[in-house]
Amino acid sequence: MNTQFPGASIRDPDGEGNGPSIRIASMPRDSSPSAGRAPEYVVELDNVSCYYGSFRAVRNVDIRIAKHAITALIGPSGCGKSTLLRTMNRMNDLVPSYRSEGRILLDGQDLSARSVDPVAVRRRVGMVFQKPNPFPKTVWENVAFGPKINGYRGDLDELVERSLRRAALWDDVKDKLKQSGMALSGGQQQRLCIARTIAVNPEVILMDEPCSALDPRSTLQIEELMRELKKEYTIVIVTHNMQQAARASDTTVFMTMGDDRAGYVVEQGETIGIFTNPKNQLTEDYVSGRFG
Ligand code: ADP
Repeated sequence: MNTQFPGASIRDPDGEGNGPSIRIASMPRDSSPSAGRAPEYVVELDNVSCYYGSFRAVRNVDIRIAKHAITALIGPSGCGKSTLLRTMNRMNDLVPSYRSEGRILLDGQDLSARSVDPVAVRRRVGMVFQKPNPFPKTVWENVAFGPKINGYRGDLDELVERSLRRAALWDDVKDKLKQSGMALSGGQQQRLCIARTIAVNPEVILMDEPCSALDPRSTLQIEELMRELKKEYTIVIVTHNMQQAARASDTTVFMTMGDDRAGYVVEQGETIGIFTNPKNQLTEDYVSGRFG
């Protein structure tokens, strides 16, 4: 195993150049306000298990999501990454057969408490989906929609512009605000969805494979944008793309599933450590491309 860092190639498992070469040496240094300080945790999952009917999809997960950082959830298909992501804003409540056990804390408050309104949770914890899903409305309306529903009393034009600027989309669409959001390119549509999420000022942005429908250039734009956004928000991303996890995240959580198909966390830690010096053989096999 190549544990050198910084180095050009992170690993080449069989030494014959066949393994995925995951470069993280070029990751920009973390200059966010939290860099070098003990992390503050925004979301904490405490012994969380998730069920669809009698099927246990995820078991006994303990995760802490650091503020102003990007946390990547990686692991083979079906190990419960999306399920776990959706527990963080109670999105899975919309699935009738779904229930969870354990504690899910947002800023120390238990999200599963009866007194907590899931709609209010989803305002604080926004979500960006795999396939860009702008509303069939104008670019302006897409961004203004959430704040309007929430009774925003400020200057909506100003808020729309600020959100589009933060999503690195303003220059592309400033002359197209009255055009349909659906007419934008795939990458622009995804940035529009990010602008829409930002417009209601969430604390956390959940991203479920946000680049899987995008070309490589748009993918890199979104990753660049994530690095900017983490200065103000906390990001959790599910990705199948290990290069993306290695390039873009600060912390990585590796999950797999047992014989009963219940997903569980094998290892979590700083992304550099997970990719260059994993503690668990299962992690090593996965990040080196031996399975998954
Ligand atoms: P991943 O994101 O890692 O691919 P998922 O969270 O989508 O995994 O799925 C985890 C497990 O839960 C899988 O076995 C999947 O079939 C099951 N599952 C996901 N969504 C539902 C659902 N709405 N109803 C029933 N089972 C589901």
